Amino acid sequence: MATLFEKIIARDIPADVVFEDDHCIVIKDINPAAPVHVLIIPKKPIPKLADAETEDQALLGHLMLTAGEVARQLGVEEGFRLIVNNGEGGGQTVFHLHLHLLAGRDFTEAQLAP
Ligand code: 5GP
Repeated sequence: MATLFEKIIARDIPADVVFEDDHCIVIKDINPAAPVHVLIIPKKPIPKLADAETEDQALLGHLMLTAGEVARQLGVEEGFRLIVNNGEGGGQTVFHLHLHLLAGRDFTEAQLAP
């Protein structure tokens, strides 16, 4: 069965798309935890980070580079936080790998929750 994010990639479910290329899509989170909160999602439906394999190395690097590019596009390149929740114990709710990019609020406190 297709994941929620595969349905968004296929445009079966609407989303606010910020960026897209051959390998990933970036959408605004439907329930933002910061003024800027986007999800960087590979088109390949890897369920969670721990499932990624050596063959995914370039793709994982691409997601990180995309985070920087999108941060520049959104004007937040001087201050943002990237988060990957892995598995239920890590707070993951959508089992299709994604990076959370958050910005626009204070992250200087020593807390790691999004
Ligand atoms: P996770 O908890 O798996 O790390 O993050 C999943 C994220 O997906 C959550 O922040 C949640 O708000 C977001 N989300 C869930 N359903 C949708 C949806 O239908 N559209 C969008 N744009 N975001 C969603």
